[in-house]
Amino acid sequence: MIKKRIAVGLDVGGTTLKCGLIEESGKLLLLRKRKTDIHKGRETILTDIEELIRSVLTEKRLTEKEVAGIGLGTPGYVVNGVIHGSPNMPGWHGTPIVKIMKSAFKTPFFASNDVTLAALAEYVVGQKRKVSNMIFYAIGTGIGGGLIIDGQVYEGSFGMAGELGHVIVEPGGRLCGCGIQGCVEAYSSTVGMVGIAKELLTGSKGKNSRIYRAVKGDLSKVTPKIIYDMAKEGDKVGLQINETVCRYLSMAMGGMINIINPDLVVLGGGVMQAGDIIMKKIKHYLPRYTLPDLLSHCRLDYAKLGEHAGVIGCGALVFQKLGANIRSKA
Ligand SMILES: [Zn+2]
Repeated sequence: MIKKRIAVGLDVGGTTLKCGLIEESGKLLLLRKRKTDIHKGRETILTDIEELIRSVLTEKRLTEKEVAGIGLGTPGYVVNGVIHGSPNMPGWHGTPIVKIMKSAFKTPFFASNDVTLAALAEYVVGQKRKVSNMIFYAIGTGIGGGLIIDGQVYEGSFGMAGELGHVIVEPGGRLCGCGIQGCVEAYSSTVGMVGIAKELLTGSKGKNSRIYRAVKGDLSKVTPKIIYDMAKEGDKVGLQINETVCRYLSMAMGGMINIINPDLVVLGGGVMQAGDIIMKKIKHYLPRYTLPDLLSHCRLDYAKLGEHAGVIGCGALVFQKLGANIRSKA
């Protein structure tokens, strides 16, 4: 057990910095936010991060030595303490985040990928039942993910594990943002499904679709919400898109279940706000792509933590790295 029971979590997003104080149980005690000024460059973001952490500590009358440590989640990867990738945050790539933060604060510091940490948060506090192995999907603009193996967040050799969106489901298929053709992200992310919608609506039957009417023929206005609202009203194009989205997701997911043998697959991200229309279809398709024994031992559930998952995961990372017992609940 760790004596210092509070960790600082700092979630770096493309638009918002979130800083929280998190208990070992995963309880979020305090949350403060500020805008991420990406355009002002790396130094500004680093200064903002440091100020935000200090203001949160001051607000709770804590010194940096009184907390267990600081955990930071960021887009991209953290390889040997340096941020790689993060294409949506120009200038952030190459930042030696661990070195910088360790010189700024006299407390242990850890950093990892933001979606990996959201997975850890869902594991630590989002799920009440005993779970040892879990796969987390974050389905939004892209498809990210995280893996919990034997109760520990799995980061891979270089902190890059969990790229669940770039599993090929259609060789030679739609071009993905990563440059490879046929990734599940190219079909089942918001970008993917809107692309599919535009193609279907341009066809001969497109004009009869409720989606077409909802955007008054302006296909640049098609959103995932409109697609799913219309699908729920029985629109054929909307339902067809949902079939495609869920079939490919199930294909990717089935492969992962066969490899990992998880107790649980958690589905989160903005797309999952559509709810049961997706969950039911995935349950329909999964048996086609998953070995029956593995599927019968695997539960499917919605993510529970929403937008705070990232910052809670940052705190959970500190306790995990320091060896706190956050393994499966009894
Ligand atoms: Zn890809």
